[in-house]
Amino acid sequence: MRHRNADLVVVGGGLAGVAAALEAADGGTSVLLLEKMAELGGSSALSGGCLAFAGTDLQQAQAIEDSDDLLFSDLREVGAFENDEHIVRAYVAHQLDTYQWLRRQGVEFSPVIEVSSGQSVPRVHTVDPADVVRLLARRARATGRVEILTGMSVRRLLRDSTGERVEGVRAEGGSEVLSVASRHGVILASGGFSRNPQLIHRFAPGYDKCLLLGGEGNVGDGLRMAWQLGADVRDMPYIKGTFGKHPVDMANLNALLAVYKGAIAVNQDGQRFVDESISYKLLGDACMRQPDGCAYQILDQAIFEEGENRVRIVDFERRLEDGLMIKADTLEQLAARIEVPREALRRTVAEYNGFVDAGSDPQFGRRHLVHKHGALCRIERPPFYAFPSTTAIFGTYCGLCVDARMRVIDVFGAPIAGLFAAGEVVGGLHGGAYMTGSALGKAAIFGRIAARTATGGA
Ligand SMILES: Cc1cc2nc3c(=O)[nH]c(=O)nc-3n(C[C@H](O)[C@H](O)[C@H](O)COP(=O)(O)OP(=O)(O)OC[C@H]3O[C@@H](n4cnc5c(N)ncnc54)[C@H](O)[C@@H]3O)c2cc1C
Repeated sequence: MRHRNADLVVVGGGLAGVAAALEAADGGTSVLLLEKMAELGGSSALSGGCLAFAGTDLQQAQAIEDSDDLLFSDLREVGAFENDEHIVRAYVAHQLDTYQWLRRQGVEFSPVIEVSSGQSVPRVHTVDPADVVRLLARRARATGRVEILTGMSVRRLLRDSTGERVEGVRAEGGSEVLSVASRHGVILASGGFSRNPQLIHRFAPGYDKCLLLGGEGNVGDGLRMAWQLGADVRDMPYIKGTFGKHPVDMANLNALLAVYKGAIAVNQDGQRFVDESISYKLLGDACMRQPDGCAYQILDQAIFEEGENRVRIVDFERRLEDGLMIKADTLEQLAARIEVPREALRRTVAEYNGFVDAGSDPQFGRRHLVHKHGALCRIERPPFYAFPSTTAIFGTYCGLCVDARMRVIDVFGAPIAGLFAAGEVVGGLHGGAYMTGSALGKAAIFGRIAARTATGGA
């Protein structure tokens, strides 16, 4: 076994890990970041690249009025008030600063600001997420204080002789075993466990048939290592899949959310089954209850034109080019192509258009395009489109109890000395459902908070 020393160990090289490493290094701390896979990135690099920020210059440029208060109330509301108010406050208090920090690092945001799950106003800020991880890792290395070892899987947290304080890790890579002593302790940034079917089954047995996506290394290592030390967890019952994933295409992992632009969702019988404006986690549940766990998002040309090819979750054109979006001149032809009863689809769309005209949807109570944003629109202008959609688990969005400073909290409510966590391994922010962009947001925001706390800078 090889022994090493570091000021701080960061476990995992997704967005949370690289943000934490860079923040700590900028404060003068030397960091060893250990990533189990051959490359950095985790789920962050695979993601849609949407981050939820409020009150930014990009929003202001488009006259979008947003604020900390609105972000806070949206996060609480979409989380069904099951989330931890202190953690939500921590996100809100540090979000704008983190957005500006990312800009200062050279992160490029698309000028287009979209609206999505759980948002009252457009606040999806889009990046190329793999580029961002690479950029922050490059910046971290350039400080001369961050060493990154890939192919090194952390297996256990090490404590001091009293057993009270975390002061290092044991890691393995190939035939090498590494023991690292860490003066400032350890930040777990090891992501969730969306690629661990056994753990998913334990907490969310209803999702056995769901597609499980995300970074290959995301099997819950950090969670289990912290459990061993008595860490508490939260939000576990709220693991949910995301609606809008194409059932078979694996080239484009991201969901498509035409419903938030005005599409309706119908099942194989041609029937609507849900208020399409709700969080896509809740849409995911509703979709799973339909025959074969599948549905179609139905849109017309006017809605199609609302797509935006710079934002993956509403890039309709790309899905059409890839042959995933089904197109037909009439609703009847569309129904035939997706093998939905023609008369049922025609009636469903006619009924929905009637609800739009009347300003009320007595069937499912849809009032907006998404959350509290946007007026409903008729589906009437040919050609028509159908996007086959199912539910997939992209992330677990639950996990370790932390306080607002990202100290991991044990089952009796006390911080575990020397142990910090950030990103998807952390519970408490999302609660009962999910706001688009808050998972990548929390990776960057909480990564930086954890680094400052660990190094005494907070
Ligand atoms: C297809 C897809 C689309 C998504 N789209 C969005 C989106 O648009 N907006 C949004 O907010 N969220 C999105 N998410 C969720 C979001 O990407 C994640 O929640 C977020 O990236 C988590 O960041 P992280 O740094 O905590 O974890 P990750 O980026 O997953 O990084 C964790 C890293 O830790 C490593 N690791 C694990 N165990 C160990 C160990 N024992 N030792 C060493 N290393 C270890 C992993 O290999 C991984 O590289 C999406 C997820 C997916 C899969």
